[in-house]
Amino acid sequence: SKTLVYHSLRPPVPLPPLSSNISIADYAFSLLAATPPSPATVALIDASTSRRILYPELIRRVRSLASSLPSRLRLSRGDRALIISPNSLHVPILYFALFSIGVVVSPINPASTKSEILHHIQLSKPVVAFATSGTALNVPPLSLGMVILDSAEFESLMTSELGELDRVEVSQSDTAAILYSSGTTGRVKGVELTHRNLITTVAGVNALRLARKSPAVTLCAVPYFHVYGFALCARGLGMGETLVHMGRFDLGAMGRAIEEFKVCQAALAPPAVVAMVKAGGSMMDGYDLSSLEVVRCGGAPLRRSVVNGFRDRFSHVHLAQAYGLTETTGRVFSTVGPLESKVLGATGRLCPNCEAKVVDPTTSAALPPLQSGELWVRGPSIMKGYVGDEEATRAILDSEGWLRTGDLCYIDCEGFLFFMDRIKEIIKYKGYQVAPAELEHVLYSHPDIAEVAIAAYPDDEAGEFPMAFVVKRPGSNIDASRIKDFVTEKVAPYKKIKRVLFLETLPKNAQGKVLRMELTKLALLTTTSK
Ligand code: AMP
Repeated sequence: SKTLVYHSLRPPVPLPPLSSNISIADYAFSLLAATPPSPATVALIDASTSRRILYPELIRRVRSLASSLPSRLRLSRGDRALIISPNSLHVPILYFALFSIGVVVSPINPASTKSEILHHIQLSKPVVAFATSGTALNVPPLSLGMVILDSAEFESLMTSELGELDRVEVSQSDTAAILYSSGTTGRVKGVELTHRNLITTVAGVNALRLARKSPAVTLCAVPYFHVYGFALCARGLGMGETLVHMGRFDLGAMGRAIEEFKVCQAALAPPAVVAMVKAGGSMMDGYDLSSLEVVRCGGAPLRRSVVNGFRDRFSHVHLAQAYGLTETTGRVFSTVGPLESKVLGATGRLCPNCEAKVVDPTTSAALPPLQSGELWVRGPSIMKGYVGDEEATRAILDSEGWLRTGDLCYIDCEGFLFFMDRIKEIIKYKGYQVAPAELEHVLYSHPDIAEVAIAAYPDDEAGEFPMAFVVKRPGSNIDASRIKDFVTEKVAPYKKIKRVLFLETLPKNAQGKVLRMELTKLALLTTTSK
C-alpha cells in the first residue's frame, strides 16, 4: 500500500524543466559558472604521473573537442561511441565533449577480450571507438573508424583553434551513456542512462554541497567506465572539485596520492577499504593522511568487522557507504554527514527525489520497516531501459517505474538502508560484476562438459569469486586446471574461475532451474570437510 513507500527525507531538489534542451555537460558547466572555481583550481590529476589540468584548460579542451569531432569525424547527435581506456586525463574530457554534442558515451572495461568487446559492440552498435594504443588491438573496425587517445591526433582535436561551435540541441530524455550490467539475471546488457538521469545525480550532490574554503580534492580509486567512477566524474567536475584518479588499485600509491594532493575525500570499492584496515598501522603510517575527511565506499557489501576495524584505525576519517546500481545511475542511498556515517552497517538514506519500497520477493507485497525483502526503487535517476531488449527491461522495470534491484535489504525506522544479501545471479569480484550466464555460456562450448553452473564463492579480500560446478560427459577425464585455463583464455582477468567442483548432477528445482544458492552451500561444506 501507499503508506509502505519510503520517500527521501532529504529536501526535494529542483531539476531543470523537462522541456528545456540541456545536456549533462551544459548542466554541469552551468553549475560551474554559477560558483566559478578560481582559474588556478586544478580540475584533474593523474596520480600515476602527477600530470594535471586546470579548470580553464579543461573547459577549453572540452569545447575544442566538441567543435572538432562533428567536422573531423562526422560524428552527430545520437551516434554512439565506444570508449576503451584505463583511467586517464583524456577520459573525462572526452565524456564531456561527447555529452555536449549528444553523442552517446559507451565506456567498457579496458581489460575486455576481443569476444567481450564484440558482445558490447553488438549491444550498443557504436560508429566510432576511442581506444588507447594499448587497447586498440582488440577493437574491430567500426564505420567511422577509431581515434587513439594517446596520439598526436587526439591532442590536436583537443587543442585546435575553436571553430564556430554549432550548438547541438540535446534533449534531457536523450540517451547520454550506455554502461553495462547483467541486471538480475542472464548475460551482460547495455544500460541506457539519459541526460536527465545524470543531471539528477549531479543536482543531488549540488543541493548538499557544503561551503568550503578551497575546492574539495576527491580521489577516484575506481574506474571511470563503471557507473561509480562515471557518475563521480560528472559530479566532481560539476562541483568544481579537484578529481585525482588512480589506475589499478595499489595501497601505497593511494597513500602517496592522499598525502601529495591533500585528498579530503576518497571514493573506494570495498577491497580498498579492506586493504587499508589490514595494512592499518604499518603501511598507512608512512603517509600523512591528515587531509582525509571522508572515505566513501560502495559497489559491494562491506562487512561490519571491516567497518569497525576502519573506525579503530582511522578514527579521524568518516566512513560513508553508498548503495546503488548501474541501472540507477549509481547511488540511490547515500550517507551524508558525520552523524549518518555513525550508523553501523547502514548504507545511507534515500537520495533526494527518490522513492523505495521493500517487498516480499514472492508476493510483491510491500513490507513495513525492519522487515527484509527485495528492494525496489523509483525516481529520476532510474535508467531508460536495456538497449534493444524490451523483454529484459520489462523484467526489471515495472509499468509504474519501479526497478527491482535483486537485493535483499531492510530499511529501519529512521530510513537507513541495510543490505542483507543478493538474491540476483550476479557475482561481485572486487565490486566488478561477473555474470554467471556468461561464464556458463563459455563453458558449454567445451566438448567435455555435459552441464555446468557458476555460483559465487565467498572471499575475504575480493568479496566473492566465480566457482564452476561441472558435470563431465561420460568418459571424459578433464580436470579442474584445464577448465580454469579454458575460461582464462576467453574472458577478462577479473572473471577468472578460481575453483571447480565436479558433481554427478546439478541441484535443480521442480522447473529445472539450477539452485545457485545450494551450490555455494555445497561448496562451503566440501571445503570444511576436507
Ligand atoms: P553495479 O551495477 O555493478 O553497480 O552493481 C550493483 C549491485 O552492487 C547492487 O545491486 C548490489 O548488489 C551491489 N551493491 C552496490 N552497492 C552496495 C553496497 N553499498 N552494499 C552492498 N551491495 C552493494
